[in-house]
Amino acid sequence: MKNQQRYLLPIPVRKLRKPEDEEAARPRANKAVKWALSRSLWVLVFGTGCCALEIMEAFTTRFDLERFGAMMAESPRKADVLVITGLINARVAEVIRRIYEQMPEPKYVIAVGACSMGGGPYHDSYSSVKRADEIVPVDIYVPGCPVRAEAVVEAIRLLQRKIYGREVK
Ligand code: SF4
Repeated sequence: MKNQQRYLLPIPVRKLRKPEDEEAARPRANKAVKWALSRSLWVLVFGTGCCALEIMEAFTTRFDLERFGAMMAESPRKADVLVITGLINARVAEVIRRIYEQMPEPKYVIAVGACSMGGGPYHDSYSSVKRADEIVPVDIYVPGCPVRAEAVVEAIRLLQRKIYGREVK
């Protein structure tokens, strides 16, 4: 009994924070949340054309997008970023729309290559949807035919800067 009493230490009572302290801490907390959101992107690639190979290359060891905090997602339900590449025809447009709707908020779209920006070599085809932004809102466009893997890396970095600059609600 005597020993037990010896180990009963008084519990420190924390001082309650003042409202001013919380106000002062809010911008720093916002910054931390935005940093975490921008550096943990799950990227879903929807590729129907040759540009998809360049996007895959951006995730390989040479360019290693993971070091910037972007990983490939295998399901739209956990993806933050949808990368659209290749020719978009009327049937594919429906699929892209459905995938976009399955993604949780906040979500972002990158259109890669001439095909997804304006139809590319198939711009005068009867079945092609000319631009990805006719189906879903696009945040970043990456021009080229084909695009380089470096350009894909730069697009992800640009998106991260865009997310970091946004207000967290
Ligand atoms: S933009 Fe060019 S390289 Fe890319 S999918 Fe279209 S045709 Fe292929």
